[in-house]
Amino acid sequence: MSESPVPVIDTPLEKKDFIRQIVRDDLAEGLHTAIRTRFPPEPNGYLHIGHAKSICLNFGIAREFSGVCNLRFDDTNPAKEDPEYVDAIRDDVRWLGFDWHELRHASDYFAAYYLAAEKLIRDGKAFVCDLTPEQVREYRGTLTTPGRESPWRNRSVEENLDLFRRMRAGEFPDGARTLRARIDMSSGNINMRDPALYRIKHVVHQNTGDAWCIYPMYDIAHALGDAIEGITHSLCTLEFEDHRPLYDWCVDNVDFMHHPELLKPLLAREFPLEADKPRQIEFSRLNINYTVMSKRKLTALVGEKLVDSWEDPRMPTLQGLRRRGYTPAAIRLFVDRVGISKQNSVIDFSMLEGSLRDDLDSAAARRMAVIDPLRLVLTNLDENHEESLQFANHPKDGSFGQRQVPFSRELWIEREDFAEVPPKGWKRLVPGGEVRLRGAGIARCDEVVKNEAGEIVELRGTLDPESRPGMAGANRKVKGTIHWVSARHAVEAEIRLYDRLFLVENPDDESEGKTYRDHLNPDSKRSVRGYVEPVAAQASPEQSFQFERLGYFVADRRDHHADAPVFNRSVTLRDAWAK
Ligand code: ATP
Ligand code: MG
Repeated sequence: MSESPVPVIDTPLEKKDFIRQIVRDDLAEGLHTAIRTRFPPEPNGYLHIGHAKSICLNFGIAREFSGVCNLRFDDTNPAKEDPEYVDAIRDDVRWLGFDWHELRHASDYFAAYYLAAEKLIRDGKAFVCDLTPEQVREYRGTLTTPGRESPWRNRSVEENLDLFRRMRAGEFPDGARTLRARIDMSSGNINMRDPALYRIKHVVHQNTGDAWCIYPMYDIAHALGDAIEGITHSLCTLEFEDHRPLYDWCVDNVDFMHHPELLKPLLAREFPLEADKPRQIEFSRLNINYTVMSKRKLTALVGEKLVDSWEDPRMPTLQGLRRRGYTPAAIRLFVDRVGISKQNSVIDFSMLEGSLRDDLDSAAARRMAVIDPLRLVLTNLDENHEESLQFANHPKDGSFGQRQVPFSRELWIEREDFAEVPPKGWKRLVPGGEVRLRGAGIARCDEVVKNEAGEIVELRGTLDPESRPGMAGANRKVKGTIHWVSARHAVEAEIRLYDRLFLVENPDDESEGKTYRDHLNPDSKRSVRGYVEPVAAQASPEQSFQFERLGYFVADRRDHHADAPVFNRSVTLRDAWAK
């Protein structure tokens, strides 16, 4: 996969959230000379809009405070990880407009983690435990009752070192033993009840191959990874709040800063030594209604073919949003609007759509397209009548320039802009009525042509010659204005009309035995054949337009070609879901 170029982003207004305030205070107190953050995805799926919040926060803070941000793949669970995800994640971060200082993997540090674990054993702070997973659960206790100490907790340092080395040498099968921290089985915080630090897993790792058959657990790997990289502020979501004591325990008890010998394996790899004492700060995760965001469910949607792929334009993945026509600026705007706090909430999907509308309103050129075509023949024009009308590409921004739009005797108009029996308040075309054709004059409908089945196949009408652009009657009042394309010049296009993937606000609701599969919107994808004006067909892939009166559309980044255009509807002009 080729990497997107990193666009330049305007300096944002100063943001005031509590995390940036902590960073500001820490700098003012001289606690750090430079800010270091990291974004630590697990490469077991594609990034979603929730991750964008974490990316914008971590990379944003680094940029705003002249610090750096690393991209670190948390690849400690080799069974579920895949290089396909690694490539997509790199691409997504750059597409969002950010670049990392260093690209690292937790697996880069396996040798240092191993030395750290041996140090904990030597210090009497870790032991090899032979309890089965079931027994571990049983010994752990509950929120209201303390746990019990493992019978293996008081093994000698020598025995622990010997067993740990034999775990590493591959002498024992998966799950036979674990290395556990020796902390406090009666702690009120269950995470502190002698948590596992290492487990045996005879699995080939995408980076380290078969070099290891023991892998560190998330808590120790994450804390030590932050310490090794000299991360100053380790920003994570609220569910890790209860893990913070363990995070600090790992950092403090390994203490790389006073034990640089543990980092020797990194010198061999020419990594700079920049260990520091990181501080974990939690913020609330992003939740959005009408979608699901757990990787497990997104993986299932793809696996069960309920969507076409990870980049299906209905998916909340960054690849999906991108293909749908979301711009990096719209996503950053959305994340800014959501803000950073410790308050859990569910954000309305329309806020995401609103951010896209607001970005594209100023960023997208206007074009005309007809997605449900009905022929209108202007009988008072010559068969060969053909002219070129000048249109502004943007109503509010002259820098978009002008374009020529061909006009002729036969036009495509939108079927829904004509009503044989108009409802009350109807402003568009009716038999015998008039409507303004955007930029081309006023047309009257004289005749409705139907087929044998009684379906309307064509309208025949006349163009008021006095109403042409620049003529005396051009500003004559008629109720409605509709868009059109010249039938002879228009290019046929596939138009993919997407809508929300789920019908209900909370697809995760599993009451009445339902699952998110039962809440899918059966009309979330429709494909129609329409017509676009000639310059629209010339769009480059991923170029966005407002198709006047219809919404914002993007030339599909995979399937669009000038001679066979494909457009995705990114968002309608108005919120059709508003209550
Ligand atoms: P999993 O479903 O595997 O637990 P995850 O969503 O936690 O996945 P990670 O790859 O571990 O995914 O996430 C990388 C980073 O993105 C973490 O720091 C995580 O806290 C953050 N993150 C994930 N989901 C959200 C979210 N919805 N809002 C804000 N940050 C998020
Ligand atoms: Mg996670």
